[in-house]
Amino acid sequence: MSLCVQDLHLRFAKASGPSALAGIDLSLPQGDIGVLLGPSGCGKTTLLRAVAGLERATQGRISLGNAPVVDAAQGLHVAPERRRIGMVFQDFALFPHLNVAQNIGFGLADWARAKRSERLQAMLELVGLAALAERWPHQLSGGQQQRVALARALAPSPDLLLLDEPFSSLDVDLRERLAHELRAILKQAGTTALFVTHDQFEAFALGDHVGVMQQGHLHQWARPYELYHRPATRFVAEFIGHGTFVPVTVASSLPGHAYVDSPLGTLRLPGDVPPTWGLGEGELLLRADDVIHDDASEVQATILRKAFRGAEFLYTLQLDEGLTVMALVPSHHDHGVGERIGIRLDMDHIVTFARQGRHSNAF
Ligand code: ATP
Repeated sequence: MSLCVQDLHLRFAKASGPSALAGIDLSLPQGDIGVLLGPSGCGKTTLLRAVAGLERATQGRISLGNAPVVDAAQGLHVAPERRRIGMVFQDFALFPHLNVAQNIGFGLADWARAKRSERLQAMLELVGLAALAERWPHQLSGGQQQRVALARALAPSPDLLLLDEPFSSLDVDLRERLAHELRAILKQAGTTALFVTHDQFEAFALGDHVGVMQQGHLHQWARPYELYHRPATRFVAEFIGHGTFVPVTVASSLPGHAYVDSPLGTLRLPGDVPPTWGLGEGELLLRADDVIHDDASEVQATILRKAFRGAEFLYTLQLDEGLTVMALVPSHHDHGVGERIGIRLDMDHIVTFARQGRHSNAF
């Protein structure tokens, strides 16, 4: 079922400082997967708990499908157990005295016997554990336990599934594999799901929509591609991926023909000069994939660091003026630290920001 959160505010009783949630708006269509990303303490878990009904919003509305479950102005707060929401939390404790099948069937106690065993079988197959139905939790790997927890939450066909860092106790390799597997399982079940993670690779692997939060605010709620290539704010740009802010000054500006001076030479902007650039000064966000290795280029940079990524190297490069940029270069171009290489920019997808006090920092 779709989820809609409107202008949601939440302040914990007796808490000082800013609100834990300060006006959150997001919508998640039926069957889509949303992921909340952000630094520790930004309010991700609080938002999830407010959707579940475990925390009370001080302002705003939440609806599931067409039915409001929270409307603070009207004093509406539907009890958690009446929201038809499934949850998988960080410490997805399985019942140790119940086997896999009994764990998964736990929420189906009041179902008719035949329907229950049919559902149980479907869930076991969905998560690929049909052969392990009789095992006890302590006989399962971490990844298998996680799949049992997922099947248990999915079994009663919740209208919405909430998952709070469900992979946090698993090792990195397993996490990445499970993220893809989990996405496939949720898509097959057609379940609308909202995740919390602080791992952006997990967010990109899982989410149809990803939101970046900071101090109770949702900076952007968008498709992963959009978030990476068109970050709405500097915070999103810095939080997602690698890149550098490069200060530039407008050199000439005619409609459709705007040029700027930059430490990488004169560059043509992909559009007109943004109206927010007071005094003709702005900044470009250079992603590692916008910086192209080109021996023919006049712009030379020194390799400060390199990281092998399989198909590519991620080079950290220093320009002569001291500016640091990152470049993703196909790994057959294997240069050593300290070597100088030519670079040019692919300006097609460059994102522009208004100039801030700070200068040219790589992140
Ligand atoms: P993490 O990634 O570390 O889990 P988070 O983004 O999920 O962080 P929340 O747990 O939602 O963050 O916390 C948001 C803010 O609300 C934090 O400043 C936290 O200290 C505060 N907070 C959370 N629960 C309570 C509570 N019960 N009472 C008072 N303040 C709380």
